[in-house]
Amino acid sequence: MSDMKKNVLLFTCVSIFCFMSVVQAKITVSETDKKFDEWKQHFVEELWKVYPAWASSVGYHKYDDVLIVPDDAARTKELDFCKKSIKELAQFNPESLSDANKTDYHLVRNQLGGTLWSINLLKAWEWDPSTYNISGSFAEMLSNNYEPLDNRLNNFYKRMANIPAYYEAAKRNISSPTKEHTALAIEQNLGGVSVFTTDLEDALGKSGLSDAMRQNIKERAATAITAIKDYADWLKKLKNDNPRSFRLGKELYDQKFNLEMQSGYTADQIYEKALQHKKDLHDDMIRLTRQLWPKYFSSEPMPDNELQAIRKMIDKLSLKHVTPDSFQSAIDKQIPELIAFINAKNLIYIDPSKPLVVRKEPAYMAGVAGASITSPGPYDKNGNTYYNVGSLSGWDKDKAESYLREYNHYILQILNIHEAIPGHYTQLVYANQSPSIIKAILGNNAMIEGWAVYTERMMLENGYDGDKGTALNEASPEMWLMYYKWNLRSTCNTILDYSVHTKNMSRDEALSLLQDEAFQQKGEAEGKWKRVSVTQVQLCCYFTGYTEIYDFRQELKNKKGDKFSLKQFHEQFLSYGSAPVKYIRELMMKEL
Ligand code: ZN
Ligand code: ZN
Repeated sequence: MSDMKKNVLLFTCVSIFCFMSVVQAKITVSETDKKFDEWKQHFVEELWKVYPAWASSVGYHKYDDVLIVPDDAARTKELDFCKKSIKELAQFNPESLSDANKTDYHLVRNQLGGTLWSINLLKAWEWDPSTYNISGSFAEMLSNNYEPLDNRLNNFYKRMANIPAYYEAAKRNISSPTKEHTALAIEQNLGGVSVFTTDLEDALGKSGLSDAMRQNIKERAATAITAIKDYADWLKKLKNDNPRSFRLGKELYDQKFNLEMQSGYTADQIYEKALQHKKDLHDDMIRLTRQLWPKYFSSEPMPDNELQAIRKMIDKLSLKHVTPDSFQSAIDKQIPELIAFINAKNLIYIDPSKPLVVRKEPAYMAGVAGASITSPGPYDKNGNTYYNVGSLSGWDKDKAESYLREYNHYILQILNIHEAIPGHYTQLVYANQSPSIIKAILGNNAMIEGWAVYTERMMLENGYDGDKGTALNEASPEMWLMYYKWNLRSTCNTILDYSVHTKNMSRDEALSLLQDEAFQQKGEAEGKWKRVSVTQVQLCCYFTGYTEIYDFRQELKNKKGDKFSLKQFHEQFLSYGSAPVKYIRELMMKEL
């Protein structure tokens, strides 16, 4: 019933706006697609039984009271579920499915294969003690108001029962862990204790539960705290003579890259492309620095060292920034300017009935300044999408100044393009027009981030420059230079990740790459080193997705020649939802 309703809605949208010919073709649903839709629904319900915490995190709260103990039996259950689902999936021929279902098929297949690989080959459950941490999901039950507080507290209580068994299983799983993940696990687990002390006490203070129930909750929380602290202690004292290296190694890295990026390129190809791109960016940056030098430094001689000259110019331009008080209003003001520019240049249809709601960062997100998009989960149909903008009030002067130099006049505009329009927010609006539970939970990160990064460049190519309004056809050299600096970040993230995990890059080499060649501050570079030593592949998603989208656009432009329309390319590209770029490319090329 609800599916039919959705189709009707979709149809109305298409007939009113007439801009998505692709979607229109999908209105008649074939028998195979009907069967596949039913299977997907069944698959997702089974999925939530195996992964109750994941279910809760996307707003499916049926299993909120369940905490899975990560022992052999649980892993066997997970493996069985994946194998069974792969078999069921094999009954369908992806070629006979609609475009939307075809991409869903590939996402599910990849997810299942990836889980088998993770458990059997990657085995992070053995060497990464930070996999075991329950505080985040318990915190969510207290802070997220999806149900009456007393219901949430009842589930919180039931779910706590397995915490001691959970950490006992963790201890049995761990063998020769990496030092880096061990330190992270200790830090994060101890950091999460406050969920069971202050956070829980706050919630109990507001609840209407009986005194007896409150007492039960407190007692169980005390047991939970003991289990968490005991786990941290156990890790601190663990005799670990042969710790595994945090570096993944070439073979596992390549496999993880393929599974997570689902890219048309291999990890090696993306690495080579990133190296070349870094070189191109440096060439452009020195050209712009030479051009701008007299304007900003008059007769002062330019340093001979090109990288140092670029850095000096960037530092100078970074001084142009808003005051701490006007940070939020500056962002607010830019949104309609971006929309006006996009409409004037005919870049992509922006649905005026779905305006972006800009709001001050809610209290529970405070402290992380900047801007982010929060969208309702797939089960929260009435939720709003917000653009959360952090406030700098209460920051000390130096911290605020350094932050504002980083998010200076130029970068702030690029941030808005990336997060809001036509970046993440616009992508989300388009994705919601062909709603898919599969894409909502398994959407491809490289496509999502790649799109946001792609739009930064696309906007500048079309002349976006907040100082000049819609009349101008060329962004200023200052804007380009600062954009290149921003783009170097995702480019060097990829070089860093690949080099650290497959080429043994040292900490010093890494810091030199980030500071000297990507012009980052010491603090940012050190933070990035910490991140690359506890994650793998994740840092590549921005550059990988961006490169694939950009290359694909150029390919299509060459093929179509005069008939190529940028607006039509963007709208069709986004109409497939958060699918991997390689499949979108395949579907769009087939149409030609
Ligand atoms: Zn300043
Ligand atoms: Zn992003």
